[in-house]
Amino acid sequence: MIADNVLDELRLIVGATGVKTGDALSLIHPGSDERNLDAGVMVVPRNTDEVASVLRLCNQHRIAVVPHGGRTGLVGGGVSAAGEIILSLAAMNRIESLSAAAGTATVGSGVTLQSLQVAASKVNLTTGIDIASRGSATIGGMISTNAGGMDAFRHGVMRHRVLGLEVVLPDGRIMSDMSQVTKSNEGYDLKQLFIGAEGTLGVITRAVIRLAPADEFTATALVACPSATDVVALFRRLHHSLDLLRAEFMARDYFALASANLGPAALAAFTETPAYLIVEIEAFDQRSAQLALEEALAQAVDADIVADAILAQSEKERNEIWNIREDSSVVDRVHPHGHWFDISVPLQELETWLTRFNEGIAALGPDVRGFAFGHLGDGNLHVGVAGALDKDTAKAIVYANLREIGGSFSAEHGIGLDKRQDLHALVDPVKLALMHSIKAMLDPNGIMNPGKVLC
Ligand SMILES: Cc1cc2nc3c(=O)[nH]c(=O)nc-3n(C[C@H](O)[C@H](O)[C@H](O)COP(=O)(O)OP(=O)(O)OC[C@H]3O[C@@H](n4cnc5c(N)ncnc54)[C@H](O)[C@@H]3O)c2cc1C
Repeated sequence: MIADNVLDELRLIVGATGVKTGDALSLIHPGSDERNLDAGVMVVPRNTDEVASVLRLCNQHRIAVVPHGGRTGLVGGGVSAAGEIILSLAAMNRIESLSAAAGTATVGSGVTLQSLQVAASKVNLTTGIDIASRGSATIGGMISTNAGGMDAFRHGVMRHRVLGLEVVLPDGRIMSDMSQVTKSNEGYDLKQLFIGAEGTLGVITRAVIRLAPADEFTATALVACPSATDVVALFRRLHHSLDLLRAEFMARDYFALASANLGPAALAAFTETPAYLIVEIEAFDQRSAQLALEEALAQAVDADIVADAILAQSEKERNEIWNIREDSSVVDRVHPHGHWFDISVPLQELETWLTRFNEGIAALGPDVRGFAFGHLGDGNLHVGVAGALDKDTAKAIVYANLREIGGSFSAEHGIGLDKRQDLHALVDPVKLALMHSIKAMLDPNGIMNPGKVLC
């Protein structure tokens, strides 16, 4: 429990309505994890100085602070407990400036991805990063998890979109590195420490984000391929010969489930193959985009790397195709209580990994099902295993040959609570020791999101 005198001090900093408990807190959605609001106290600062004052106070009283953005994180990074406070950055949601000339935006960390996308689109720019949780995910949360998403193979992950950062340290000091430029070699690039730190080193309050040119005239297709190797070959062809915007992979079981439950009849009845790809390209005008994709896919059919394809003929058809991939929570709706993993696989090993995964699932009998899909360009797969089995058994199948083929057990969602054991078991011990040293140096009292990332 947080003492009443501390709550009073917090109210003095952020105002009476800026401290939410009881009924006021119960109106707020916990987000991706039911345990996110368990602290029972949420503090909502309006600016960087208030964040600094809150952290100074919490550091003085040794009160743990759990930062919250949109609460869409998928590894338990936002989980809180009694005796801690939740620090919500939701009110720091102002786009301070957006320069079409420089292609940059300066934003408060509570700005949602979607609102920045909408603002950028008005000057024909995009954020260069896109994730399905765009409506709620905040820039601060995405920086803290180093989010990736569908455009990462072209524009990089969140780390590559951040030019400048403002961070409040656990003792209340403000580190301002709000650079507006790409080239800035001014000693150690400390902002990188806070990108992907999941709120364990400090609170991100503002950022300068690099924008990218908007994708204007696009063509989209759903493609069925005879194998995962063919999917990769198709990706390489399109990436080399066209302006490929997106390439999202779906293994057969995922596609069958999603298309049967989400799609129109045409998609549900689509050719059955082991591997599918949704591809999107851009060209100078709409007609050129359609023709270029059609021609490239026809050549891929001749080369036997594509079995069948559906080219979207309207925005409605495009949305229907994308929905099959984006509404991946369909797996949980049909098969609740599955175990989820977020891994990276080197592209040349996709077939090897998928074959081993399918064999592992089949060996557990018909009641266990495996679903794999993800961002092909980065070899990033989201893998669900559903059925009567525990997480360790599912993990053994998903991780079976992952290290051997040079993959990663944590691709884009982070470590949070859920992957701490994997981090400690699988990461280089010297690297891990350095992480502990950095944490101890920046946060000697251990108030920042304790128990997350590091045990
Ligand atoms: C439907 C769906 C699709 C998704 N798709 C993708 C995807 O394609 N790619 C991908 O990478 N991720 C994806 N994610 C997960 C992804 O981590 C989040 O959507 C997003 O990055 C988190 O933003 P948030 O504002 O919701 O952060 P939160 O969930 O609120 O927080 C995430 C972590 O960051 C910390 N944090 C939040 N704000 C701050 C801050 N200002 N300062 C310091 N620490 C902070 C929290 O303590 C927590 O540890 C998806 C999630 C969902 C639900």
